[in-house]
Amino acid sequence: MSNLRLWPAFSSQIIAIVSENASAQSPISESWITNLLAQLYPLCRSITGDGTRATLDILARECGLTMHEVSTGSAVLDWRIPDEWSLRRAVLSGPSGIIADTVSSNLHIVGYSEPCHGDFDLHTLSRHLHSLPDQPTLIPYRTSYYARTWGFCLAHDTLSALGPGKYAVDIDTVLAPGALSYGELLVPGRKREEVLVSTHVCHPALANDNLTGIVATLALADWAAAETREYSYRFLFVPATIGAIAWLAANRDTVERIRHGLVLTGLGDGAPLSYKRSRRGDAAIDRLMSHLLVGKGLILDWSPYGYDERQFCSPGFDLPVGRLSRAPHGTYPEYHTSADNLSFVDAAQVTAAIDLILTAFDAIEAGLVPRSLAPYGEPQLGRRGLFRSVGGALDEGSREYALLWLLSLADGDHDLVDVAERSGLPLADVLTSARLLRTAGLLA
Ligand code: ZN
Repeated sequence: MSNLRLWPAFSSQIIAIVSENASAQSPISESWITNLLAQLYPLCRSITGDGTRATLDILARECGLTMHEVSTGSAVLDWRIPDEWSLRRAVLSGPSGIIADTVSSNLHIVGYSEPCHGDFDLHTLSRHLHSLPDQPTLIPYRTSYYARTWGFCLAHDTLSALGPGKYAVDIDTVLAPGALSYGELLVPGRKREEVLVSTHVCHPALANDNLTGIVATLALADWAAAETREYSYRFLFVPATIGAIAWLAANRDTVERIRHGLVLTGLGDGAPLSYKRSRRGDAAIDRLMSHLLVGKGLILDWSPYGYDERQFCSPGFDLPVGRLSRAPHGTYPEYHTSADNLSFVDAAQVTAAIDLILTAFDAIEAGLVPRSLAPYGEPQLGRRGLFRSVGGALDEGSREYALLWLLSLADGDHDLVDVAERSGLPLADVLTSARLLRTAGLLA
């Protein structure tokens, strides 16, 4: 944690709120989110290259993460690190001027386009043009990581207006041996057991699918470092698929320590939160997140398609890692198009997601399976200042009611989700009561 350099205002805000309010509340200001999104948005990220490195540099200034580089050609599990790709600029012009220029949007270039300079007729060029006929004003996001080609992405309205003539292609990219970069931050806690949070960092000018996961992960890193936590927290900022695979290949021993994990992406759109269960389906994180989203969000069962939960949950690793998003990928019209821009995301939606995650982390920190240290008869709460002095019917929402539920289920076989579900009390109230009982020496 010594390398962690927090924004002063940011960290002191966190400490103040954590100490005064037992239930998790995100201290992250919406303007901090908005500013960071705006800084990151123009960078031309990919699975490798300068745009991704520049992104990690900005994150490193915020949280002091370590940047790892894995050389082109390195074997990582069943994969090999590809050549590194960076965009300088790509311009397509035609008889009546510039048609696409990555200065205005880096979505215009197909990711991993090889360099190309030359003149083409429209017929030949059209094999290299991509558009969305059903969304004719939007630029699609396309990549070709493993098959060498080049291409431009255009609004279909622009593409269909192109007439015969000579078109100049000027793609100034670098595609050559180099390295894959990823960021990692371990915040040690009292235990060596870890909570893993991972997000992908390989999408260019797309705000929801990529950047909101990055800022939420960064905010959680700041929370983890604000005071010494029970668990150690590991944060990964990795290119999708190949980056997660590269990390797993280098961390066969580390994965043994991961007790809970989340993949974060797409947290800023207008949809309710959705949680995709780990492959196990019954991990503690699955129980927690499913409970927190009852009536408020969507619970999805495991499927082998999606983000890096596919790698963390592959049978050889089988980690207890679920995924939190809002609208699931591919289900909203802005997905992987130029409409997934800064105005599409709402910082308040990101902070609401962070709040929910922090409630889950609070439960993990509190010890998910409480055990009463005074299980023989009810302990005398009044003597400890935990029960009101005037008798009468107990209000079902009261603190005393929560204390009784906790004590009655704290047999080591029931977890905090059981207590919340059986009592009908919010998990945050159960957590507050667990802290009171622990302070009073009644709960292990
Ligand atoms: Zn995506």
